[in-house]
Amino acid sequence: MAIKKFELKLQSARMVTPRVRELTFARSDGEPLDYIPGQFVTLHMEHEGKMLRRSYSIASIPEAEVEDGSISVAVTHVEGGRATGRLFAMEPGDTVEAVGPFGRFILRDDAPCRYLLVATGTGVTPYRAMLPELERRVDLEDFQVELFLGVRKPEELLYGEDFQSVAEKHQGFNFHACYSRELPGQPGPYEHKGYVQDLLDTVEPDPKRDVVYLCGNPEMIDVAAGKLKEAGFPVGNIRREKYVSSN
Ligand SMILES: Cc1cc2nc3c(=O)[nH]c(=O)nc-3n(C[C@H](O)[C@H](O)[C@H](O)COP(=O)(O)OP(=O)(O)OC[C@H]3O[C@@H](n4cnc5c(N)ncnc54)[C@H](O)[C@@H]3O)c2cc1C
Repeated sequence: MAIKKFELKLQSARMVTPRVRELTFARSDGEPLDYIPGQFVTLHMEHEGKMLRRSYSIASIPEAEVEDGSISVAVTHVEGGRATGRLFAMEPGDTVEAVGPFGRFILRDDAPCRYLLVATGTGVTPYRAMLPELERRVDLEDFQVELFLGVRKPEELLYGEDFQSVAEKHQGFNFHACYSRELPGQPGPYEHKGYVQDLLDTVEPDPKRDVVYLCGNPEMIDVAAGKLKEAGFPVGNIRREKYVSSN
């Protein structure tokens, strides 16, 4: 079946960290954009006679933010980036072609377990979209969540306040902010210095009870997945979304 393109119109945009722009889109035809938390949309943009296809995970929290059928994505600034250059220059009312939502990086009907959700940078956006379902699972179904977000410095902690506020409300949900370069002056108990793939060891990953999600930087994913496999994790319990582009 042919994939149907549609047009997205930019509703609003804001910088959410010094290097990340959040863009909120709605379909120009007024149809809602239904998605499963964890999925992404692919934007089609012409650049020097070539069609670029760039995917962006949906960052919006369903129920809280998506009453009007809109979606938000969070885009990291890339020096010389072709698509990101366009996305950072877009003004409300501008349009872009899109397809989707796609992707299987979603929560499944798992038996109660401990989720280790690991991300670098904008790779955390799928977990933001999953928050209402994660809250439901930790409250009602005996799940646990350990969410690790890796960034370079405190001001880059994308949506950190959302994860921290969920962690404060639910005993079974822990947030770990991991800074590769510098800690804040007075770090909170959830803030650590180091790389996510190393700090993950602090919760003692256990192949018998943990299901791991890895999203963002491909190198982080390869290193973390390698370590987990060595520790005895079955491949099916390591779910991955690598932020790489094909052209
Ligand atoms: C399923 C999926 C979901 C994704 N979701 C997101 C998302 O939510 N937010 C997001 O920002 N990106 C996301 N990405 C990555 C995104 O699709 C683009 O690859 C990215 O925005 C760069 O596109 P560009 O055209 O600007 O860069 P290009 O013009 O393709 O690249 C320019 C140069 O920058 C390098 N480069 C490319 N990406 C990066 C990077 N992230 N950091 C440093 N250097 C880079 C390239 O190697 C190249 O040298 C996702 C990718 C996939 C596959």
